[in-house]
Amino acid sequence: QELKHRLETTIENIPDFPIPGIQFKDISPIFLNPKLYEEVIEDLVKFSKGKVDSVCGIESRGYLFGIAIAVALEVPFILIRKAGKLPPPVVSEKYDLEYGSAEIETREGHIKKGQRILIHDDLLATGGTTEAAAKLVEKQGAEVVQFSFLTALKDLKGEEKLKKFNAEIYYILE
Ligand code: IMP
Repeated sequence: QELKHRLETTIENIPDFPIPGIQFKDISPIFLNPKLYEEVIEDLVKFSKGKVDSVCGIESRGYLFGIAIAVALEVPFILIRKAGKLPPPVVSEKYDLEYGSAEIETREGHIKKGQRILIHDDLLATGGTTEAAAKLVEKQGAEVVQFSFLTALKDLKGEEKLKKFNAEIYYILE
């Protein structure tokens, strides 16, 4: 409860950024407070302990917490990046955005067949990116068993897109 409250007062809500009508949540003040960061990681680690074989983090804020979660769990960390950043060979997944499309990638071979995977990102918005990440994991023969986020923009109903994966979903801040 206490952690939730402190996180809520630390994450900044910025109206009309990056465009008018959008309320942006800025998580960067968390890193000004190492003790709070440590507790955030502890909480996310507790959710995943003993349940996953690898952690996939989504570029770029998913790395800020995902890597620490993986190290604490003593499991591999896999980078999911925007297309064109990782050297070949890569595995890719295209997905639609409101305007146009995007593509994400992992290095080939980093995800192993049959692994139980946690997909982590800082924030769930429309769910488009996370859904594509889950498809990218599944087409490599692994299973998405958990999603974790610090928080979500609930109004955007991103969770709807994740239901089909039958994985546990966790937010520190609902
Ligand atoms: P989605 O595909 O719409 O769910 O977008 C999720 C991605 O956008 C995540 O990687 C988030 O880091 C980022 N994102 C969207 N809105 C915000 C926000 O308000 N604050 C921080 N990140 C955001």
